[in-house]
Amino acid sequence: MVSVIVPVYNEEDVIGHFLEETGRVLEETGLQYEYVFIDDGSRDTTADILTDRLANGLPGRLLGLSRNFGKEAALSAGLEAAKGDIGVIIDADLQDPPELIHQMIDGWRAGYDVVYGLRVDRTSDTLMKRSTAGMFYKVFNKLSNVDMPPNAGDFRLIDRAVIDALLRLPERNRFMKGLFAWVGFPSMAVPYERPPRKAGDGKFNYWKLWNFALDGITGFTTMPLRMWFYGGALVSILAFAYAIYLTIRGIIFGIDVPGYTSIMVAVLLFSGIQLLSIGMIGEYVTRLFNESKQRPVYLLQDVIESTPLKTHQ
Ligand code: UDP
Ligand code: MG
Repeated sequence: MVSVIVPVYNEEDVIGHFLEETGRVLEETGLQYEYVFIDDGSRDTTADILTDRLANGLPGRLLGLSRNFGKEAALSAGLEAAKGDIGVIIDADLQDPPELIHQMIDGWRAGYDVVYGLRVDRTSDTLMKRSTAGMFYKVFNKLSNVDMPPNAGDFRLIDRAVIDALLRLPERNRFMKGLFAWVGFPSMAVPYERPPRKAGDGKFNYWKLWNFALDGITGFTTMPLRMWFYGGALVSILAFAYAIYLTIRGIIFGIDVPGYTSIMVAVLLFSGIQLLSIGMIGEYVTRLFNESKQRPVYLLQDVIESTPLKTHQ
C-alpha cells in the first residue's frame, strides 16, 4: 500500500484540485493507497474540506495538529501515521507534479528505496530564492559529511525501511532534507520542472528560510563551531610574530607612541570576530537547549479516519 503524505496549511484554494489530480494518478498505478493529511494548524476551511472527503470514501486519515508547527514537524507526524509499505511525500499546492509518482514507483520496483524529485528548472522560483538556495546547498555540502543532492525537495517516494529509519531519529530539529540525506539508502533522482503554485500563497518568507538554513547547517555539521579554533590559532600566530617584531623594534629604535590606527584596527577586528564566534556558539547552545527540553515535535489535536466505502478499505 502507498501512503501519500500531504502537509497542508491554509490550502483551501488548491486542495480540491490536488485531490483530483493525485487521485487520478493513484488510480492509474493500480496500487492500494491511503492519504495521510497533516493539517498544520490551518485557519481556513482546509480541514473541513478534507474531513468531508474522508467521510465520503477518500481513504486515509487527517491528523489535526494543535497549532502551526511548521512543515518539518508536520512531515514527522505524517511519517508516524503512515501505514503503507511505501510513503510518498508531496506538497498540496501541485508544485510537486503527481504524475511523477508513476516514475517513482518504477524506480522503487527497480530496487531503489528512495526516489526523489529533482528540480531541474526552478524558473518558477524568484532569482533571489534560486541563488540563495544554491548557496545553501553549496555551504551545506562543503561543511557537512552527509551528501544532500542540490535542488531535491521533500517530494519523494520512500520505502518502509526508510520511514522506519527516519522514525528512529530522536532529534527535535526535524530538518527533513538533511535527515533524508543522513539515513542514506539506495536513491534515485527523477528530474522535473517545478511549476508555480496552482493557487494560494507560498508559506515561507526569507526570514523563515534563513532560519531553516541555519537549522539545517547547525543540525548536520559542527564545522562553524570548530573553525574558530583554526581562526584563533592563525590569529595567535600572527599576533605573536607581530609582538616579537614590535619588541625588537622597540629595543632598537626606542618606543614611539603613535599607534592609534593599529590599535583601533586590532580592537575592532577582534571584537568583531569574538562577537561572531560567540553568536555562533549561541546558535548551537540554542539548539542544545531546545533538544534538551525534550518536548514533542508536534501535538495532535484530533485524528479523523476515513469512513470505509464500497471501493476502498
Ligand atoms: N506547509 C505546512 N506548514 C507550514 C508551511 C507549509 O504544512 O507551516 C505545507 C503547505 O501547505 C504545502 C507545503 O507545506 O503543502 C509546501 O509549502 P509552500 O508551497 O508554501 O512551500 P514552497 O513551495 O514555497 O517551498
Ligand atoms: Mg509550494
